[in-house]
Amino acid sequence: MEMQSSKELVTLMHTPSKEDIALVEKAYTFAMDAHKDHKRLSGEPYFIHTYATAKKLAEIGMGAQTIAAGLLHDTIEDVGVSPEDIRREFGDEILFLVDGVTKLGKLRYQGLERHVESLRKLFVATSQDVRILIIRLMDRLHNLETLEHVREDKRKRIALETLEIYAPIADRLGMGFLKRSLEDLSFAYVYPEDYKTISDLLNDKEKKMEMALNEVQHTLKRELAKAGLRDFHTSSRIKGLYSLWRKLARKDNDIEKIFDIAAIRVVVTSIDDCYRALGIVHAQWRPLPGRIKDFIAFPKPNGYQSLHTTIFAGDGSIIEVQIRTPDMQKESEWGIANHLSYKEQGRGEGRFLWVWQMLPGFGKKKLATPADTTKPSSEIPEWIEEIAHAQRSVLEGEEFLDELKGDFFSHRVFVFTPKGDVIDLPIDSSPVDFAYTIHSDIGDHLSGAKVNGKLVSLDTKLKNGDIVEIETKKSNKPSKKWLEHAKTSIAKRHIRNALGLTPIVKK
Ligand code: MN
Repeated sequence: MEMQSSKELVTLMHTPSKEDIALVEKAYTFAMDAHKDHKRLSGEPYFIHTYATAKKLAEIGMGAQTIAAGLLHDTIEDVGVSPEDIRREFGDEILFLVDGVTKLGKLRYQGLERHVESLRKLFVATSQDVRILIIRLMDRLHNLETLEHVREDKRKRIALETLEIYAPIADRLGMGFLKRSLEDLSFAYVYPEDYKTISDLLNDKEKKMEMALNEVQHTLKRELAKAGLRDFHTSSRIKGLYSLWRKLARKDNDIEKIFDIAAIRVVVTSIDDCYRALGIVHAQWRPLPGRIKDFIAFPKPNGYQSLHTTIFAGDGSIIEVQIRTPDMQKESEWGIANHLSYKEQGRGEGRFLWVWQMLPGFGKKKLATPADTTKPSSEIPEWIEEIAHAQRSVLEGEEFLDELKGDFFSHRVFVFTPKGDVIDLPIDSSPVDFAYTIHSDIGDHLSGAKVNGKLVSLDTKLKNGDIVEIETKKSNKPSKKWLEHAKTSIAKRHIRNALGLTPIVKK
């Protein structure tokens, strides 16, 4: 049995206040007592599970409220503590979190392909506050770690639900570490045969790859130091089994077509150094053409930033090199949790919308780009600009499309009405699409739009987390221009109809 104590939780917290410590200790005692006669399927005390969930939350830097809610997350559902009890003991906010986690637990994925997308959306919309999602994700992670005690049919359902719903959400939240753990833990339960095939396939290659990785890492460190780079740090990884399996399926099951099975990660102190390190890598090893990707200038939809290149290691191995700053590294592993914990501590509260706006990759946020580093952009060499341009064609390439298809969230945007309702639209949608999605009357009389409180033009591309407010005028009518701004078929149809272009065919 794992060591547990409220002290351990407290030591994991970042600069907790007295109130924070008291809150976590109180929740600890309360949850332990509530679950005292409650056992897990393994026969162990149930509290082990709620404790483990809270510990994972503390480890990723979540604040006291979230950790306390993690300790309490199964008290309403499993041992009949009333919401009133939670409110009285811990207040509205913690009740809000625990209640949200409980509700989320009631949504079940039944393995129906056509419902996957709407269920993911429902998860996001139901959770209201992204902390609820994060508690659920950590709860799920611990359940998967102990899944062998669960009945076989149930095991498979939980693992499949994780692959289809939870892992994509973790990905969308930029929590790369969590996504990989959830996937690799579930894979063996859902697709045991494929799991075996892939692990055998990888086993054959692993030794050679590890040797190549060590060799390249060694040389790279030397070359970086020689070039005067300081405080860098390198590590290597072999691709997760599940993501390798998915990628193989897209590459005609030809492992020779997959170039990122072995990867080296280089963390350097500044964006400038990222580009310098890339040059150093290319001076040492021949890069594969068309594999240089600048996700610093062009972050992925979930906010991921890094430079990627793929090199011939010399012994016939192919290795992907990923170069990034410590901030980007943190971002790629923990995504939204980085912003959240900070915010939560600062305000001791946290409500719906702002948490979504904190999501990385969403427009105006603090994403670092070459242009906004501390150094003036004139110091950025021209060849970087060239990569940036080349990137466009890479992004339009087949591989990128494959990646997009695999991720529902990356071709939809989630925006909000001023009341906080979630509206999901195709990517690049405009306020015109938003207006028609709310109601055709609102669309037809649209006169202006505000995004996050600022007036914007009607061709503005909406971004995740935007709060969109539509202004209407009775006298306003759709114009031809609107057709160019519309992405959704519903908007196009109504505009065409209003312009008398084609009648709406009623069936
Ligand atoms: Mn649980």
